[in-house]
Amino acid sequence: MTEESVKVAVRCRPFNQREKDRGAKLVIKMNGPVTTIANPDEPNEAPKSFSFDHSYWSHDGFIEKPDGLLVPDSQKSNYASQQKVFDDLGTGVLKNAFEGFNCSLFAYGQTGSGKSYSMVGYGVNKGIVPITCEALFEKISKNQEKFEVTFSMLEIYNEQVNDLLNKNNQKGGLQVRQHPSQGYFYAQDLKRIPVGSYKEIERRIEEGTANRTVASTHMNATSSRAHTIVTITFDQIFDSPGGGTKKSSVINLVDLAGSERADSTGATGDRLKEGANINKSLSALGNVISALAEISMGSKKKIVVPYRDSVLTKLLQNALGGNSKTIMIAALSPADINYGETLSTLRYADRAKRIKTKAVVNENPID
Ligand code: ADP
Ligand code: MG
Repeated sequence: MTEESVKVAVRCRPFNQREKDRGAKLVIKMNGPVTTIANPDEPNEAPKSFSFDHSYWSHDGFIEKPDGLLVPDSQKSNYASQQKVFDDLGTGVLKNAFEGFNCSLFAYGQTGSGKSYSMVGYGVNKGIVPITCEALFEKISKNQEKFEVTFSMLEIYNEQVNDLLNKNNQKGGLQVRQHPSQGYFYAQDLKRIPVGSYKEIERRIEEGTANRTVASTHMNATSSRAHTIVTITFDQIFDSPGGGTKKSSVINLVDLAGSERADSTGATGDRLKEGANINKSLSALGNVISALAEISMGSKKKIVVPYRDSVLTKLLQNALGGNSKTIMIAALSPADINYGETLSTLRYADRAKRIKTKAVVNENPID
């Protein structure tokens, strides 16, 4: 068993057109692993500093290739490309998966801050999920003859679980149940589709993405207000004369809904109810993270981790406090107007890095 801290990375995106048009000011600075944020309303106040496993500067210092790929504009540029993020984080996920550890990667941040960009990506700027899946099959083809990979994709919307790969089965959503002997929570009847190549995964990601509930908010018309969880299971079978063994890894890739408070997006009515539910799941996540951080720091109090408070925290129980190696990417807006939300994202990320998980190699005899 290896006990280790949740790895936390933050990433700062470029200004968007709206921010450029209104002459937005940059409030984020990065230096090595340290990220600093300055309060635009209090120029005399000392900037606040936070230290993470990685601070990714993706704000400037890049050029766009003819095909649209963003790359550093020079040798000296500190621009963190999609490839850089994969090299740091994705390769570790891959290695762990092959060793039989469960891995989880989740993206946190306000709507429009760059969560989906880092996770899935847009066009040729593929995110960590597709690059990792592609590399998984590449590595399988070199190393492993007997294997099984399955893919599933769900969203949590208003505390309801929808199977994104099964459009016909969504009325009322899937039930979340607890495994009677092993204790973990799972979405009952969720489709787990065997996949044999990266192309198949790519097609499933497209299918699932098309089924996502897209509701526009003032902040970002294309951003979903739901949490999306992609789960890949990877089994390797090792035959031997005395009976073989199987190594298993569950990889959870989580693109969380926007962390902003409902009122800051100008939501009303239905959208507001939705916001309240999203906040229920996210505040439950915050409470779970706080409780786990306290436990990791050796609190003497008896602390009950409130996993049961939301669907999200039930399904992420292992990813957060259990058998998993876990990475969090916190997406940051560079703009002065988002100072409050960005500061709260940094504080959230700062708490998450105190959490320790206990991953074990999942290896069992084949019966
Ligand atoms: P979120 O999923 O958090 O709502 P998105 O990932 O959709 O936000 O990002 C919002 C916009 O910012 C998108 O147009 C995206 O292309 C752009 N963007 C985000 N992060 C980056 C980045 N690291 N480099 C370049 N553009 C980015
Ligand atoms: Mg998104």
